[in-house]
Amino acid sequence: MGKTYGGIEAGGTKFVCAAGDGPDNLSAEARIDTTTPEETVGRAITFFQELPEPVAAIGIGSFGPLGPDPASARYGFITTTPKPGWRNFDLAGTVKTALGVPVGFDTDVNAAALGEYRWGAGRGLDSFIYLTVGTGIGGGNVIGGRPMHGLLHPEMGHIRIPHNLVDDPFLGICAYHGDCFEGLAAGPALEKRWGQPAGTLPADHPAWPLEAGYLASGIANFIFTLSPQRVIVGGGVMEQAGLLAMVRREVRQLLAGFIDTPETTREIDVYIVPPALGNRSGVLGAIILAEQAVG
Ligand code: ADP
Ligand code: ZN
Repeated sequence: MGKTYGGIEAGGTKFVCAAGDGPDNLSAEARIDTTTPEETVGRAITFFQELPEPVAAIGIGSFGPLGPDPASARYGFITTTPKPGWRNFDLAGTVKTALGVPVGFDTDVNAAALGEYRWGAGRGLDSFIYLTVGTGIGGGNVIGGRPMHGLLHPEMGHIRIPHNLVDDPFLGICAYHGDCFEGLAAGPALEKRWGQPAGTLPADHPAWPLEAGYLASGIANFIFTLSPQRVIVGGGVMEQAGLLAMVRREVRQLLAGFIDTPETTREIDVYIVPPALGNRSGVLGAIILAEQAVG
């Protein structure tokens, strides 16, 4: 019997908690609405305390920005989020103190990328990126099985992409930057621009070619800068039928034959792909963070 680990996918809308050691052994999932830190994290802690078997460690993949460096005083904290109540909250420390086990901590997208590396669409690759297009846009870059860090961690959703104000006068919704990538192309930007939830916009709505163009701009920039061997794109907005196919076509056009590999041309359908673990990449990746926290 392997050890049982706890995973928390800490999102701005919900926390998903689970215990286990992999996709075939994941039990007792709980979904907790994200309200105040005290209430939300309190409920997550209670979930793990009430399990029949205690977990050996906890991994947390969290929304950010956050402190990912164990040597920093801000390690384990959610830092500059515009989300009310969560700024400078010591998420990993609170969980560690309450449960008394090692806690691994990284961004939600780095965790999801790790999940895809071990069990999903990133298996066997030296380098790939994982992007999510949902309530926000975030991305992780895995190299040699490790999510890239740096000064802090990548914030791929906040790059600048071309924004033609004649075609799209919408000014964007990012609290920090207005019309950055996330400000233009995350789910809530679609809802605000078009006045209805993204999931209710019909397939022939002009929202989708515009959205595909923005997503392709972002992805092309990541291909140029990081040269990933694959691009995994998940998140609620990608549920839109036909969107991924449009994105592939646009990316190919933006690369313009300059990046001329089989992957980015005739094999683009297996180069830009959905997550193989569906919406479980995040919580499964958090399980890996827990495993790594034990060492
Ligand atoms: P989160 O980013 O909070 O984890 P999701 O990845 O589920 O959540 O993304 C939620 C976003 O996805 C919302 O903005 C929602 O409007 C949008 N969304 C959900 N379903 C669809 C759909 N079928 N088509 C397009 N957008 C969708
Ligand atoms: Zn931004």
